[in-house]
Amino acid sequence: MIISALKSSHDSDLRSPIHIDTVNTLTNLGAEIFFEEGIGNGINVGDDIFEQSGLKKHSRENCLKKGDLIITNQPLEDAELKLIRSDSTLLGMVSPFSNHSLIQSCANFRINLVSMEFIPRITRAQKMDVLSSQANLAGYVAVIESAKHLSTALPMMMTAAGTLKPARVFVIGVGVAGLQAIATAKRLGARVEAFDTRDVVEEQVNSLGAKFVKIDLGETGETEQGYAKELTEEQINKQKELQSKVCERSDIVITTAQLFGKPAPLLIDKKTIDRMMPGSVIFDMAVESGGNVEGSEIDKVVKRNGVKIIGISNLASKVSNHASLALSNNYNNWISDFYDKDNLIINFDFDDEVIKSSVLVHNGEIKNQEFLK
Ligand code: NAD
Repeated sequence: MIISALKSSHDSDLRSPIHIDTVNTLTNLGAEIFFEEGIGNGINVGDDIFEQSGLKKHSRENCLKKGDLIITNQPLEDAELKLIRSDSTLLGMVSPFSNHSLIQSCANFRINLVSMEFIPRITRAQKMDVLSSQANLAGYVAVIESAKHLSTALPMMMTAAGTLKPARVFVIGVGVAGLQAIATAKRLGARVEAFDTRDVVEEQVNSLGAKFVKIDLGETGETEQGYAKELTEEQINKQKELQSKVCERSDIVITTAQLFGKPAPLLIDKKTIDRMMPGSVIFDMAVESGGNVEGSEIDKVVKRNGVKIIGISNLASKVSNHASLALSNNYNNWISDFYDKDNLIINFDFDDEVIKSSVLVHNGEIKNQEFLK
């Protein structure tokens, strides 16, 4: 079997879908590996290093034409899908919610499509969970970027020139990204508070040494997969009102609230921003999926009344080397679990929960149609 790894085409997405430290996992499967020229540019790994590890450099076109399994960090356009042989498999991060046409095209061209965004949240599949591996790094980056924009230091410092108070950080949404943001801010010495509509996370917040802000919104809860349930308009308004007091006293507010497959909820409005201290920072981690903060813009720092509102796309790519390493481990784990070494094919066993959830197209047929509704 030939595995082709494609370079990410956007400058902002510098993660390679293979990492030099992980290529042995693939070569040990007995697969031949092609990579697109320049694939490691964003992670400071030259083509020659990949070649020394036994991988073969090819043009993008050749990678598409020859690969039995094609790994990508981005969805492909029809013009490129047409180059892929039917019955080959495309695996990676393919933005399925905003890309129904890709799914239809893969079915039309009889290309099997594996969406790594749809890895189920079960213990066995944690090693393949791309959303978590990238959200974790994004949470770290959000704190580092916010700290850069603050005019104070994060830790308390008792100096001869006086005592400098620690910065106060408020994290809204305590999923994977939020937990890492809390841990990073704590390590840097900030005083951290956090809130989530899923009250099960209170214990996790406390265990990181942060304080859970209690806001009673009535019935909230989570889905079977552990995602938050959408709040009613009344609940959102109540949340905005009650959390604004915490925003007012915070130097950094980091919002991470997401709803799987839906636009992110708007949680901080202009009224709240206007009550915050000049010089404080709001980092909107949901800016790409609609935004948690009124007025936030992708890849911009917007100023309102002296408050900086930051939105950065593709956060994990700011630590592209680690992002690539984690991603390629996620991809390799999927491939290793389902590659049948004896018959040199991928074993699409739809009785397996991971296959059932992550394979969106097989043999020209659209599978897992739940999310298309
Ligand atoms: P996510 O990215 O979907 O959302 C981020 C956070 O925002 C979530 O914690 C969510 O509850 C919160 N949120 C939504 N609306 C909100 C609101 N109005 N106000 C405040 N917060 C709001 O979440 P995620 O990072 O994917 O994680 C969700 C849960 O799944 C976490 O508890 C995580 O630990 C768990 N998880 C489990 C597995 C597994 O078992 N394999 C893998 C990954 C994550």
